[in-house]
Amino acid sequence: MNIHEFQAKELFAGYGIPIAKGIAVKAESEFDNALAQLPDGKIVVKAQIHAGGRGKGTFTDGFKGGVHVCPDKSTARETASKMLNNTLVTHQTGPEGKLVKTLYFNEPCAIEKEYYLAITLDRAGSRPVIIASTEGGMDIETVAAETPEKITRVFIDPAQGLQPHHKRSVAFGLGFSDKAQLKQLDKLLTGLYKFYWEKDASLVEINPLITAPDGAIIALDAKVGFDESALFRHPDVVNLRDLDEEDPKEVEASKHGLSYIALDGNIACLVNGAGLAMATMDIIKHFGGNPANFLDVGGGASEEAVTEAFKIILSDPNVEGILVNIFGGIMSCKVIAKGIIAAAKNVEIKVPLVVRLEGNEVKEGKALLDESGLALTSADSLSDAAKKVVELVKASN
Ligand code: ADP
Ligand code: MG
Repeated sequence: MNIHEFQAKELFAGYGIPIAKGIAVKAESEFDNALAQLPDGKIVVKAQIHAGGRGKGTFTDGFKGGVHVCPDKSTARETASKMLNNTLVTHQTGPEGKLVKTLYFNEPCAIEKEYYLAITLDRAGSRPVIIASTEGGMDIETVAAETPEKITRVFIDPAQGLQPHHKRSVAFGLGFSDKAQLKQLDKLLTGLYKFYWEKDASLVEINPLITAPDGAIIALDAKVGFDESALFRHPDVVNLRDLDEEDPKEVEASKHGLSYIALDGNIACLVNGAGLAMATMDIIKHFGGNPANFLDVGGGASEEAVTEAFKIILSDPNVEGILVNIFGGIMSCKVIAKGIIAAAKNVEIKVPLVVRLEGNEVKEGKALLDESGLALTSADSLSDAAKKVVELVKASN
C-alpha cells in the first residue's frame, strides 16, 4: 500500500526527519488559507499522485510539470488552479495518467546538491538494505544501469538493527565529511530506519535528499510503501489509504476478501490460490494467449464472494474470454459452480467461458453447471482448459 508524499512527510516529521514545511489542499477554496500559513515569497506547488517523475510529467491538456517553483503566492495560486483536477502523465503513470485530486504547497528550499536515499528489503539477502547515491533527482534505475559505482548499498542484520558503522558507510558513500552534516545525517538515518522498521514499510525513498547552502540536510521528496500483510498492525497507516489512487476493481475485490490483479491481456482467470494463478497464466501464455487479470478467490470463499469475483471480472472491457480454473481442496467445486450461476443471472456473460473444476465435490459442481443451461465449455485438465480458452477467444475475434 502506497501513500502520498505529503502523508509520508508528515510521518517523517514525527521521526525527526527534516522536511520542507508544506500544506496539502483538495479544493481551490482551500488555497488562500493554506498559502497564508507559508512565508511570503517563492512557493512550490506539487501534484500528489502515487507515481514518481511528477516534475518531468505533463498534464493531458498540455500544461507541463507536476512540480512548480513559483515566484510568489499569486503565481502559485494560478499554477495550482491549472494543476488541480487535471490529469498528469509521468513515466510511471502509464499513458492514461492520474487525476490530481490533491496538491501540496511547499516552502521552497535552496538546493546545493541532490542525493538519493532509500531503505527497502533486499529479498535475496532477507534483510533491509540502505541504498544511497550522490546522483539524486534522477531515476535510480538509470543510475544503477549507467553508473552503478555511484550507488552505495549497506545491508542491515535485522536482529542487530542499524549500527553506527552502517551510518558511517552511508555518509562515506555520499561524500559527507563536515562534522555538523555527519551529525544531521546520523539523526536522519536513525529516524528513517526506525520508521521503516516500526511501520513495516516495504520502501522508504527520498529522492532527492538535499543539502542547502547553509549545510542543512532536508528530505525534499518522499515515497513510502507498506507491507500489506502487516497492515493489521497499523490502523493509523490504513487510515492514510487513498482508494482514488488504486484500481477500483482491486479495491472492490479486497472488500470481499479476494485478490484481483489487473494485467494487460484479454483472458480473465478465476482461480484459487496464488500458485495456481501463476501456473494458469503461464499455461495461457504457453498456448499463445494473454491474461487480462487474475482473480484469486482464495481457499474458503463463499458463494457470494465468487459471484462478486465474476462480476468484477466481467466489468473489465478488455476481457474477451474467461478461464475458471479451480482445484477444490478446502474450496468445494459446488460453491464455485453456484457462484458462477448466480453471477450469470446478474450480468450477462457475452464472452467464451471455459471451466475446469477438479477436487472436492467436483461431480456435484459439474452437475450444477450442466443443469444451469449456461453456455460454457468444460475442460478436463489445465492444458486442455488453456488451449480451449485461447482458441475460443481467437475464433471470436
Ligand atoms: P518527482 O520525483 O515526482 O519529480 P520531486 O518531489 O522529487 O518530484 O520534485 C522534483 C524536483 O523539484 C526535485 O528534484 C527538486 O529539484 C524540486 N523540488 C521539489 N520540492 C522542492 C522544494 N520544496 N523546494 C525547491 N525545489 C523543490
Ligand atoms: Mg522525486
